[in-house]
Amino acid sequence: MSNRPIITRFAPSPTGMLHVGGARTAIFSYLLARRHNGKFILRIEDTDVERSKKEFESEILDSMKWLGLDWDADPIYQSQRFDVYRSYIQKMLKAGTAYKCWATPEELAAMREKATAHGKKPMYDRRYRNFTGTEPSGSFVVRFKTPLDGETILKDLVKGDICFQNQEIDDFIILRSDNTPTYNFTVVIDDYEMKISHVIRGDDHVNNTPKQILMMQALGFDLPEFAHVPMILGPDKAKLSKRHGAVAVSQYREQGYLPTAMLNALLRLGWSHGDQEFFSKDQMISLFDLSGCGKSPSVFDVAKLDHLNNQHMKAMDREELVNLLRNNYGTDLSTLLNGDASIKLFDALVERAVRLTDFKDLSAWYFEESFVRDQKTIDSNVSACPAAALEALKVQWQGCADFTGENAFACIKTVATEQALKIPVIAKAVRVLLTGTLASPDMGIVLAALGKDRAVERLSI
Ligand code: GLU
Repeated sequence: MSNRPIITRFAPSPTGMLHVGGARTAIFSYLLARRHNGKFILRIEDTDVERSKKEFESEILDSMKWLGLDWDADPIYQSQRFDVYRSYIQKMLKAGTAYKCWATPEELAAMREKATAHGKKPMYDRRYRNFTGTEPSGSFVVRFKTPLDGETILKDLVKGDICFQNQEIDDFIILRSDNTPTYNFTVVIDDYEMKISHVIRGDDHVNNTPKQILMMQALGFDLPEFAHVPMILGPDKAKLSKRHGAVAVSQYREQGYLPTAMLNALLRLGWSHGDQEFFSKDQMISLFDLSGCGKSPSVFDVAKLDHLNNQHMKAMDREELVNLLRNNYGTDLSTLLNGDASIKLFDALVERAVRLTDFKDLSAWYFEESFVRDQKTIDSNVSACPAAALEALKVQWQGCADFTGENAFACIKTVATEQALKIPVIAKAVRVLLTGTLASPDMGIVLAALGKDRAVERLSI
């Protein structure tokens, strides 16, 4: 690594929502900058006026904020920098590293046809490269004067060295006929002016990089480091897309995932630190390095995200989790934080919840007397238990002076012995009567949290 200050950037085009793939590049860029006390810049690449939309831009910014990827200084908008780009174009025209081209669409089509007929890659035939005559009237584009021979080596921090033959690279367009600069050009100017030390992006940009390197060299710019990270795949190993399900970060937010779990899951897609799976945000910052990035594409696995979400919920401060659930998901569990028995129940619910949206259903039996019961489960389990046993249990519980989870459960055992029944026969019936399901937390926890009166009452339902 050179000793330049670390400055990274995330450069989304606001032509769609923030996709998990984009978020992962943003995370890598953010972590590298934070790890080295550097800067993380957000640059909105909105030069495509037709496709760029304000609503996508706010969605991207919101998702970044939600993920906690705070950027330094105000976002930079490429659409406000056209003059800067055009001044560099003028410089290149003057220096002869770029030239105007008046080839018409028909001429270009004929070139393509000719190349294809000869089994060659369609390329512009460079007819205006050395043009010296009087400039024709009519619209023109500006093209980069790509060196005709030699090679350009991309020293990629993830992929290793990749060599490109310059003769394979077209004299590509840097300014369109409508006077707007192209992506490959704006990115070079911005990465230079913003003193970007590390360009981290998806490997779908690998083929753009030699063009960018050549322009940087032509302009006398120092090269940044490049790190191209492999694509994210769906479970069928095809590039992750909408048909695999949710791809936008905001969709995961709505589904009840924690931002830290999302960061953790996306970080682990393509980066590793030994076999550690769980990372707090502080650990991510202190451990991230580009040498931990893998070369091969990774599969986005929702089961892993689920697991991590549960782990991150468990790692959270209880109050913080309660506030988040109340403020963002309308589930108020605050009363559970009063008293040991209900705190135990709270922890048992966290143990079972996968998403933040699960708490509502998981805790309904505790908060509402008229919670939705699974009638089939009730019928089959309650009918398996003689009514007399439940009556006897009611008497036992009523007489129980110290209704702890342990004591209340001991009553179930006593009744089972007295009535010559197996403990699970009564325990299951009790469980479904009290909680509506067999998937509730440990009976001791349930009984202690509900307390004597509510438990007794529910036996009569
Ligand atoms: N706007 C480009 C994109 O969204 C950025 C590529 C880059 O990071 O250079 O793919």
